[in-house]
Amino acid sequence: MSFFSTILCRLGFHMRSRRKAKQTEAGWKSVCRSCGEPMIKLKGGDWRVMLKAPGPSRAERLKQREAEARRRRMPPPRRRRPGDRA
Ligand SMILES: [Zn+2]
Repeated sequence: MSFFSTILCRLGFHMRSRRKAKQTEAGWKSVCRSCGEPMIKLKGGDWRVMLKAPGPSRAERLKQREAEARRRRMPPPRRRRPGDRA
């Protein structure tokens, strides 16, 4: 792994390993020579890093946590009879 290829990986330009390429039912698969990221061959002949399962982004996670905290802070309103004194 060279410094140059590490930079390329960071930028999204991965180098597919010819040796590790293999044909599967889904098409050609290989890995990036420098970072080992799994890659897949597109119909046009280009190689693309396989997409990972999309997880919640940082902003989404923050929003979820906020919503949860709000729910905890505000329990469902209790009914009070007019005569009750707290
Ligand atoms: Zn890479």
